[in-house]
Formats: sequence, structure tokens, C-alpha cells
Amino acid sequence: MSVSILDRLEAKGLRMTGQRKVIAEVLSSATDHPDVEELHARATARDPRISIATVYRTVKLFEEAGILDRLEFGDGRARYEDADREHHDHLIDMNSGEVIEFCDPEIEALQEKIAERLGYDLKGHKLELYGVPRKRRT
Ligand SMILES: [Zn+2]
Repeated sequence: MSVSILDRLEAKGLRMTGQRKVIAEVLSSATDHPDVEELHARATARDPRISIATVYRTVKLFEEAGILDRLEFGDGRARYEDADREHHDHLIDMNSGEVIEFCDPEIEALQEKIAERLGYDLKGHKLELYGVPRKRRT
């Protein structure tokens, strides 16, 4: 089990206000890739006083602390996910905007090889695939 977002924030010595705690909890319970507006909607369901500006500032703070990963899927909206989640890549459905997570050992190994060939130790990567669903043949 990974350490909760709240525990990691406290370990980093970030001052935790009630509103930051709510936003941290919302992020912890997210299983998708919410943007700021979605996070704001979920946060205000718990505490209606939380403004969208607070959500913006808070995710920026968490991102800078290395707690959150910021994702850009080509639609100009930043999305966030827990940086401590197990490594995976994303496939974006260009029709619905749905984000599908995957991890492929061949791709992982290939990237290692490429970095090595170029004289680097690989420390990380981001891979995003964009596609439309294939029409099913009947
Ligand atoms: Zn993901």
C-alpha cells in the first residue's frame, strides 16, 4: 500500500488547512484523471466554501511538492493524478475523451534500450496514445 497523499504532504511539512485536506482527500479517492473543474465539483460536495482559485493554487502546490503528476492530453486542460501510483501509460479516446491506462513490458523494455543506445540511464517517461475506437465488423 502506498502512503496516502495526506501523509506525504505532512511528511513534506506543508501546512494543512481544512480546505487543503479536503482537496487531498478528493485526490486520494480519485480513480480517474480529474481536471481542476472536476476536482472543484468534488471538493465543494464536501465543503461548499472551497473556491476554484483555491483548488488551482492547491494542485499547483501539490504538484510542486511532487505529490501529483500533471497530465496534458491535448485538449488544453491539465489533469492530475497521484504521483505515487504504479507506473502506467495512457491511451486517450479522441471521441469520448475517456482515458485508458495500460502498461506494456515490451514498450518499457524498448524505451530502456533506446535510452541506453543514446547513452542514457532512463529515469522516467511519459507516453500518450491518441486513438478512435475501431468500428466493429459484424
Ligand atoms: Zn493514469
